[in-house]
Amino acid sequence: MQTLELPGGGTIPALGLGTWKIGESAGRRGAEVAALRAAIAMGYRLIDTAEMYGEGGAEEVVGQAIAEALRAGDVRREELFIVSKVYPHNASLHGTAKACARSLARLGLDHVDLYLLHWRGEHPLGDTCEAMQTLVAEGKVRHWGVSNFDTDDMEELAALAGDCAVNQVYYSVAERGPEFSLLPWHRERAIPLMAYSPIDQGALAADAALQTIAERLGISAAQLALAWVLAQPGVAAIPKAARESHLRENLAAAELTLGPEVLAEIDRLHPAPRRKRPLAMI
Ligand code: NDP
Repeated sequence: MQTLELPGGGTIPALGLGTWKIGESAGRRGAEVAALRAAIAMGYRLIDTAEMYGEGGAEEVVGQAIAEALRAGDVRREELFIVSKVYPHNASLHGTAKACARSLARLGLDHVDLYLLHWRGEHPLGDTCEAMQTLVAEGKVRHWGVSNFDTDDMEELAALAGDCAVNQVYYSVAERGPEFSLLPWHRERAIPLMAYSPIDQGALAADAALQTIAERLGISAAQLALAWVLAQPGVAAIPKAARESHLRENLAAAELTLGPEVLAEIDRLHPAPRRKRPLAMI
């Protein structure tokens, strides 16, 4: 698995696993824990979750899967890179620490590897930065960052704090807006961009034009969409998958290299942005 360097040292796997829409139903919990355990067993190391997902339910499912995987000896804690996010309305100076403590309890962990502000909200950004830095100093968070921050937000953040590790945004072959100014901003500072919804919530797997190219390459359209995102320097991706076949396909996509003709063909289908558009959010 390829990795990306974090600005403060350390690395993150280029491909991780999303968990939005899990932990929402007790009846599905067993299957969801099993899918996450299968993911860890087949080599996924980065898991992305949030206090928002299932209102804590996703973190509980992730926590149970991690506990079982550790007990079974499938993985060691230090090999995993666990990401969670604080709700903007909780991201005050003291609220951030309390939300983090609740997330850690649900995850059954003493620290997360990356803690993100889920999107900008009503609390002063400086207070959230200070709270994040305190959590790092206390060892409860290894790295902190943000999500859904556009270029102007990143400028504002950089003036307040120099230690943001990651910005997680909507970026896919069909949503290339970040390429205009945000991605170059990140590259200049060597801060990785983490692409969420890289398969456009499953839609790109059924995209006829991508399917035609993918068939020629002997891969699936979802793999083509993922390989394209991962071909962008400084970009990591966190597709969500529950089905074991999807989990395997996506992991294999991280090993694919797309040739220049394929990249040019995709550019013709989905051209890079020519002007600044506000950052899209899902
Ligand atoms: P994705 O683009 O990852 O798509 C997920 C969907 O695609 C699921 O329905 C999944 O099906 C399907 N899928 C996955 N792999 C394949 C495949 N190989 N072939 C066909 N279909 C496939 O969408 P998400 O919106 O879930 O984004 C990924 C993650 O990003 C989220 O889970 C979350 O962790 C994070 N996120 C963060 C946001 C933020 O504001 N920071 C916002 C949105 C997402 P199945 O599950 O049945 O396998």
